[in-house]
Amino acid sequence: MNGSNRRVFMLQVAAGGSALLAATAQAQAPALVNEKDPTAVALGYTADATKVDTKKYPKYAAGQKCGNCQLYTGKAGDPAGGCGIFPGKLVSANAWCSAYVKKA
Ligand code: SF4
Repeated sequence: MNGSNRRVFMLQVAAGGSALLAATAQAQAPALVNEKDPTAVALGYTADATKVDTKKYPKYAAGQKCGNCQLYTGKAGDPAGGCGIFPGKLVSANAWCSAYVKKA
């Protein structure tokens, strides 16, 4: 392998490596909970808390959202975070479900 072939080879390895890293990162990023997932439907998970069906969920009070729920594991300011009810998924900080517990 001469010098320039070797450089091309190294570049190809580097490019392949970062593509692989990107693919791995994507595969590991948890998906947002879909409102149509069976658990989400059962709990009335609503991606936009301001659109909660208050007839169906009279316990909902304005201002309640995943971002200030006890079960939310995201950091303040994060757009989404984990929730014990939906393992391996992310819930939107502005979502709500009927398992809501006000953060102490
Ligand atoms: S339990 Fe709390 S954090 Fe989890 S989806 Fe329901 S409201 Fe959001």
